[in-house]
Amino acid sequence: MGEVLTELGQPRYRVEQAVRAQASGADDWHQVTSFSKDLRATMAERLPLWSVVPTDRQVSRDGTIKWGLALEDGAVVECVLIAHARGRRTLCVSSQVGCALACRFCATGAMGFGRDLTPWEIVDQALLARREAEREGARLTNVVFMGMGEPLQNLDAVLAACDELHRDAPGLGISARQIAISTAGWVPGITRLADHPLPVRLAISLHAADDQTRGALMPINARYPIANLLAECRRYCDRTGRRVFIEYLLLEGVNDSPADAHRLADLLRDGRFHVNLIEYNPTDGDYRASSRDRRERFVNALEDAGIQASVRRSRGADVDAACGQLAAGGRTG
Ligand code: SF4
Repeated sequence: MGEVLTELGQPRYRVEQAVRAQASGADDWHQVTSFSKDLRATMAERLPLWSVVPTDRQVSRDGTIKWGLALEDGAVVECVLIAHARGRRTLCVSSQVGCALACRFCATGAMGFGRDLTPWEIVDQALLARREAEREGARLTNVVFMGMGEPLQNLDAVLAACDELHRDAPGLGISARQIAISTAGWVPGITRLADHPLPVRLAISLHAADDQTRGALMPINARYPIANLLAECRRYCDRTGRRVFIEYLLLEGVNDSPADAHRLADLLRDGRFHVNLIEYNPTDGDYRASSRDRRERFVNALEDAGIQASVRRSRGADVDAACGQLAAGGRTG
């Protein structure tokens, strides 16, 4: 939308007027009354006001909302709004249609790659979610790039979207520290992200502590093995002064033994990382979630080795909105 308004010679505040209209419920350009009638008609000819149109909305027992969203070319992506205490909401956005990286545990990976989303297709997911949150008297406070796609393979659009998400009213005004970009380990993107001025969070989907196990789960490991990936993360920490979040999906009998925990602790010993352990949500694949017992032993082994870890509870699994289930599809970290 911004590009078209710029092409038409319109000033930046027109984008803000359009965003304000979307936030207050406008469904098409004819309802953007701050525009002249002619400009409304021109914009309506060029593109829809909303670049994503909800085609499906499912609400989980825990209040998580999952939308199926049609894009202008008929492609479909999904996004998920998660409720927290004190009226806070986190949106998990998609950055691509499908994904090229084919992680074995991920429903999106099984779809293959469709195309990159544009910045506005990402921002509109957040505008839609903000409208929903406000309807419930809540606030959209966090955005995580953990939906469909590998965000670092669409980094220009993702960074442009982050700038819009962060921009103050009538933008979404989301603090940079509440925006997280999660990657399966696309190293050139980490290098670029370190130079971006907006201090967003970086999360790495590691999911294994040795190359053989990780390679079997995530084909990208053949290109960027663990040592290269973590070396780039350390450079990122040095350059930005920020910690990196390590996402680790616990899969029964695959990567969840105390020996795996010790290997993980050895990799991360220098204190620049925080580990998030994720409960797996079965898709149609070959993996199972770790039992509670194995999970607890893994956490204890990590803690004994001096590594801080949080366990991320699963949300929205009954409507396939949890990690790894989007697209239906989705991603896991
Ligand atoms: S986990 Fe992420 S990077 Fe891997 S296939 Fe799924 S969407 Fe792509």
